[in-house]
Amino acid sequence: MEQVIVGAMPLDVLEPVLGESRFRGFADVASKAAAALHGRAVVNVNSTATGGGVAEMLPTLLAYARGVDIDVRWLVIYGGADFFTVTKRVHNNIYGVHGDGGELGRAQRRLYEKTLQPQVEDLLTMVQPSDVVILHDPQTLGLAPMLRRARVPVVWRCHIGADGTNDYTERGWRFLAPYLEAVDLLVVSRKSFAPPGFPADRVVVIPPSVDPLAVKNVDLDAATVDRLLAYTGLIQGRNGGPPTYQRRDGSPARVDRQADVLQLGPPPPPDAPLVVQVSRWDALKDMAGVLTAFAEHVDGTTDAHLLLVGPNVTGVADDPESVAVFEDCSERWRALPHAERRRVHLACLPTADTEENAVIVNALQRRATVVAQKSLAEGFGLTVIEAMWKNKPVVASAVGGIVDQITDDGCGSLIEDPHDLAAFGAAVRRLLDDPELPAKIGAAAHERAREFLPDVHLTRWAELLTSLPRAD
Ligand code: UDP
Repeated sequence: MEQVIVGAMPLDVLEPVLGESRFRGFADVASKAAAALHGRAVVNVNSTATGGGVAEMLPTLLAYARGVDIDVRWLVIYGGADFFTVTKRVHNNIYGVHGDGGELGRAQRRLYEKTLQPQVEDLLTMVQPSDVVILHDPQTLGLAPMLRRARVPVVWRCHIGADGTNDYTERGWRFLAPYLEAVDLLVVSRKSFAPPGFPADRVVVIPPSVDPLAVKNVDLDAATVDRLLAYTGLIQGRNGGPPTYQRRDGSPARVDRQADVLQLGPPPPPDAPLVVQVSRWDALKDMAGVLTAFAEHVDGTTDAHLLLVGPNVTGVADDPESVAVFEDCSERWRALPHAERRRVHLACLPTADTEENAVIVNALQRRATVVAQKSLAEGFGLTVIEAMWKNKPVVASAVGGIVDQITDDGCGSLIEDPHDLAAFGAAVRRLLDDPELPAKIGAAAHERAREFLPDVHLTRWAELLTSLPRAD
């Protein structure tokens, strides 16, 4: 297993964002939690250090916890392509979809367990019964039984789930059932995401959060945004050389790498309205659906451009489908009529440096007139809250945790049927056609995002961790 080094972040950097009284309450919770957890390591295990929502949140949350001297750690499991093909199959099934349609039988179970076995042995040399291990998502759940046998408390943080059940969800849960039995507590983003039959008194609901001070979300002025997007090749503009930004630890850095963009002609003009979806290249994010909806229901009526933006296709270790999904989008793009192709851009962002990637996403979300998240299923959808924090109107499908973020028409647009391209297009057009509306909805979105700041998130985790009995 690889250990990811996490810095420490003092909590008081959050005071200006939270306001004095909210911050004081939080600081009090944090110091009580630190005292209660003294001498107890909280070890997080997931399957990738970069790409996707879990890798996005862990560095920030762990840095705040370390800032109050809680001994939190982060380990990443390794796995071959065949292991991640199996876990992606489980992932898709838990979301209630077919995925690659491959088997989840005895051979797949053997491969899953064989990959995890040496890693749990490693892990057991690092933890003891007085510690807590938090396993993230199905990729790591198979570590639970051995931890249980060694009497180490296990929390399973499942970030995914479906709004209902079907044959696929049953198949996915059947695969995970033997490991679930070894879990002390299950943490989900929504109550309905808990597996059927899992004891309700061991389920805790903790929605994710957005960190306003992360490189992904920190304020950027309009000139920096334009310069950064021009340099990376995402909009037209004067190339003033590599733009600079500040890393999370305060050190200066430079954007050196450019985006890889599939487009016809130049990038969008500097003043063009942008519709932006930022997602991994995952079929459930439905980038292809956004492309078709834009081409059929938006383009031709405005001068807006669509940017579909994801990581470099080989950049997310635990996501084997990204190449195929990107290829599918590229084919659909090639099939568009010439005029529409000029307005649709498929961009892959550099992933070699996580903070460089983050500042580019930040600039894109800030430059967007409308942010889209047309997922077919979603655990939470961090991209939604990231855009809302940046005062953006989001047009998103009413699936999974997205409906907990956009709670009414005033703070964003929900499309009831995620396959309804006309409704999606109409919601985007409504925002593009009204010069006042994006700012109005964006302001309400920002207020709503204040419910999802790290203090709320960390307080829930502090409650949970301090409630776990300890062995010593
Ligand atoms: N993201 C990113 N660069 C990309 C694509 C996505 O940094 O090229 C980030 C995005 O900003 C968000 C996370 O990856 O923070 C995706 O989390 P989300 O909950 O939306 O979806 P997941 O990938 O976990 O299904």
